[in-house]
Amino acid sequence: MKPRKPLVAGNWKMNGGTLANEHLFTGLRASIDRHLMSQVELIVCPPYPYLGQAAAWLGDTDIAWGGQNVASLESGAFTGEVSATMLEDLGCKWTIVGHSERRTLLGEEDETISRKAELALAQKLNVIYCIGETLDERERDITEEVLRQQIERAAPVIASAPAERFVIAYEPVWAIGTGRSATPEQAQAVHEFIRTTMAAMGVQHARQIRIVYGGSVKPSNALALFSMPDIDGGLIGGASLVADEFVAICRAAALG
Ligand code: PEP
Repeated sequence: MKPRKPLVAGNWKMNGGTLANEHLFTGLRASIDRHLMSQVELIVCPPYPYLGQAAAWLGDTDIAWGGQNVASLESGAFTGEVSATMLEDLGCKWTIVGHSERRTLLGEEDETISRKAELALAQKLNVIYCIGETLDERERDITEEVLRQQIERAAPVIASAPAERFVIAYEPVWAIGTGRSATPEQAQAVHEFIRTTMAAMGVQHARQIRIVYGGSVKPSNALALFSMPDIDGGLIGGASLVADEFVAICRAAALG
């Protein structure tokens, strides 16, 4: 039994639509019972326009919903942005920040990402903060250096957040959406490094903070990953779009 309650979050990315979502919500409602919810914290992150639909379908369950991103500014003339207050208004309990697709495709940097986390926390949203190295960085053997820098920028906000409201998602960029997951041993080594680095940087509750793994998690590899001592669940992309697969991954988190 792990000292931290496992957490599994589904990142739907820019997928779905009203009908497809209905199908997915129906599948989740049918399979996720109170017993599973008592063992694992579950979150789904649909695209912004469907957060109201998530509230309607999940409002009477213990499954939480959240944003895939949030603005780094409070309000005002920022066309297309969505603030932490708005997410909270739509019943979100969580938001993801710093996903690698936003870092690499949209140029988001650590400073902006930690600002987003700060604003989200101030607005009573809990945060899933993504970090990870690219394939090139891993091949150049600078994974720890890259992660140390990402953790250093985030350390003040992590240190100020209650442990249960802040989750680190370690997502090696080379494993996201590629079908090529990190091995459980590779992921464990990095999770342990992240935890000790946070502690060395003054995060006193580093042992209580959940560190989840993301990158091609499937029902077939979930249990081996989640059984590792420092892997506290997963951030799931592709497999979160299929109810049976997502539920199987949640069950693996309960066992892990
Ligand atoms: C993700 O988008 O955060 C992710 C981990 O995707 P996938 O599971 O599809 O690799």
